[in-house]
Amino acid sequence: MAECELLSECAFFIKYAKIHVAACHGLIAEYCRGSKQSECKRKQYKLKYGNPPPENMLPGGSIIRLDAQIFCQDFDVTNVKDGVEEGG
Ligand code: SF4
Repeated sequence: MAECELLSECAFFIKYAKIHVAACHGLIAEYCRGSKQSECKRKQYKLKYGNPPPENMLPGGSIIRLDAQIFCQDFDVTNVKDGVEEGG
């Protein structure tokens, strides 16, 4: 199946798909490179309003919380004490 025509400009694909590969793999296979491209809420938003949706909107329409982004970022586990990352 052909890729979504918005792939090269889609903030979700550009930002999250490359950072959170494991978490986004299924969504990309299903939406961006799969049979649900026409159901993608990001694509529908762009077609309706002419502008791209918020970059943290998932293809299904959910919004990724910013604290979840921070939680998913890599950090040095050797600097963690009692579950809190200590300063450098
Ligand atoms: S998230 Fe939606 S608009 Fe973006 S590349 Fe995937 S299918 Fe296309």
